[in-house]
Amino acid sequence: MSVPRTVAVRARKVRVLVMDVDGVLTDGRMVLSERGDELKSFHSRDGVAVALAKRGGLRTAFVTGEKSTVAQARADKLGVDAVVLGARRKGEVLEDLCAQFGLPLEASAYVGDDLLDVPALQRAGLAIAVADAAPEVIEIAHIVTRARGGQGALRECVEVILRAQGAWTATVEAYVTEHGGRPRRTRGERR
Ligand SMILES: [Mg+2]
Repeated sequence: MSVPRTVAVRARKVRVLVMDVDGVLTDGRMVLSERGDELKSFHSRDGVAVALAKRGGLRTAFVTGEKSTVAQARADKLGVDAVVLGARRKGEVLEDLCAQFGLPLEASAYVGDDLLDVPALQRAGLAIAVADAAPEVIEIAHIVTRARGGQGALRECVEVILRAQGAWTATVEAYVTEHGGRPRRTRGERR
């Protein structure tokens, strides 16, 4: 995904990637059982996106308005740095997170899809909306992903940020090598 220069300039400063969960990492639907258990479906490529973000030197955080044990479990599995559940004032949460990490707001990227995300998007250095976000969210975002929420949108966000920082290719190669692959420059060579 190529981005305008003004977006690349913003992306270059990002050190913490903060995201909403429902509608960003999921398609926004919540499946409830009769017993009240909640099911959400996440995209595995977004899981790898979190790993790439971390490897690329970014902090990560989930901020959700829900008090969801599923979101907490997903964050735990992926090793997300911070999780804020039951967040109804996400702009203030973003400020607190940046303070916690010792970073200015301009070093934050925020990914959202709905109205509760607007206050955070207005404050973030890089405001990102998923493709199927509410019109009010798309309107204030610096960029909109091609993918819809839950369909790999986070992967695009990580790629945009790390590419702007000149770190994408090396990060991907390191990830592949770590998992037994060969660095790209030696592809085709005999061992
Ligand atoms: Mg949402």
